[in-house]
Amino acid sequence: MRPLAIFGGTFDPVHLGHLSVAWEASELLDADVRLMPASVPPHRPAPTANAAQRVAMLRAALQKQGRLAVDTRELERSGPSYTIDTLSELRAEQGDRPLVLLIGADAFAGLPSWHRWQALFEVAHIGVLSRPGVEAELPAALLAEIAARRVDDAATLRSLPAGKVIELSVTPLEISATRIRELLAEGRDPRYLLPCGLFDDPAVLAPYRNA
Ligand code: ATP
Repeated sequence: MRPLAIFGGTFDPVHLGHLSVAWEASELLDADVRLMPASVPPHRPAPTANAAQRVAMLRAALQKQGRLAVDTRELERSGPSYTIDTLSELRAEQGDRPLVLLIGADAFAGLPSWHRWQALFEVAHIGVLSRPGVEAELPAALLAEIAARRVDDAATLRSLPAGKVIELSVTPLEISATRIRELLAEGRDPRYLLPCGLFDDPAVLAPYRNA
């Protein structure tokens, strides 16, 4: 069955690193991908752009293609959005369809600090996206948890609803939202690190220029 993949993040702002790895993951897994902006990320400082602004940037970025969509459910919930709650909700909606949580290699190494992280494997697979500049030294608890879960081929993943871990070798792009926010705050114009739709309306990037 064609999997549904979820790519969560702050997307403050969404950049070509996010979009390119999400696109390639969609191709490698033959999956639909939903980019899911987080409202109150449990481990992160508050985003510079508010929720509505981050959604507007995602919508502007995702025009004229059919593989990637935006899912705003975490923004509509009050309180912290734990990934386990979101995935459990999706599991209830999607029946036995394979679900894949896409995580960058940096975020994956920190998985054991996530709320009920081991339960994630009961509701979804995890697809780990390679990210340049990340020395992925995995903690022992995570290595032990994934030892019997690793698979190399997407076909295995498609045949089960949850429980496997796959490394997805995506084209390395050393782009981060932190760097983009710095450039914008300095009055620079990171035009080709961001999707061109973000430049159509000058108001879209204003929160970062005035930060
Ligand atoms: P920040 O610099 O603000 O921390 P970010 O660029 O890491 O932001 P997030 O919204 O925090 O972006 O990331 C969401 C997800 O995207 C995370 O799983 C992260 O690892 C992944 N990700 C972001 N940029 C890349 C990239 N260039 N290559 C691979 N994965 C990425």
